[in-house]
Amino acid sequence: MDVAPTADRRRRGLLIVLSSPSGAGKSTISRKLMADDPTISMSISATTRPIRPGEVADVDYHFLDEAAFQKLVDEDELAEWAYVFGHRYGSPKEPIKDALKDGRDTLFDIDWQGTQQLEYAFRTDLVRIFILPPSMAELRHRLEARGTDAQEVIDFRMKRAAAEIGHWAEYDYVLINDEVEACTAKVRAIVAAERLRRERQPYLLGFVRELVERPN
Ligand code: ADP
Ligand code: 5GP
Repeated sequence: MDVAPTADRRRRGLLIVLSSPSGAGKSTISRKLMADDPTISMSISATTRPIRPGEVADVDYHFLDEAAFQKLVDEDELAEWAYVFGHRYGSPKEPIKDALKDGRDTLFDIDWQGTQQLEYAFRTDLVRIFILPPSMAELRHRLEARGTDAQEVIDFRMKRAAAEIGHWAEYDYVLINDEVEACTAKVRAIVAAERLRRERQPYLLGFVRELVERPN
């Protein structure tokens, strides 16, 4: 087979956002997605909320005090940040820039406020996915079954759920997480298609030019 010389076929990295009311299944789906595609990495957010049992500092979050978080804000080190459930959360900017440059995909578990800010800064690289629970009763059941939160925290998260769900129409894709494997398969399909979008393959311009200029 005669193959035209390949230009550098590196595509741009994706910024894949998963948002949902707490308990709808973002973390579960993220873990499954990354388990069978190790090229996708999770953005590790900074937060002022206290560490929970079982969490690992600098793996689950960068746990910071107010002053350290404020320093990141002042020094423009965060691509976005917001108050969620009374604490501050934000996505460090440097790893995002590195991933985009190297053509690596990054997954974000962030809320609608952060998603709006990322859209402002990185629209062409952003893929926004919203995960809905099948029902509010099932959402409460999942929060209870997860066993990580006290009853009053669960009540508070349920109260906030309707407000978070209200932002569903700001997302590119909206999935109902009835069954976790089926929902994860849909996220995989979205990622596969988004990687193939023309604008994500900047090398195509040179590739096609070469293709037609060397007809034999
Ligand atoms: P989030 O990250 O959105 O807060 P989690 O991924 O922690 O939500 O999911 C909350 C709980 O619901 C977890 O115990 C998880 O195992 C469970 N879960 C997630 N998706 C489903 C599903 N489709 N069916 C049943 N349970 C689910
Ligand atoms: P949790 O405290 O349960 O880990 O997260 C609470 C909420 O904060 C979740 O809805 C999660 O999506 C959101 N969140 C986590 N990190 C960030 C972040 O860096 N930025 C924003 N805007 N939201 C975040």
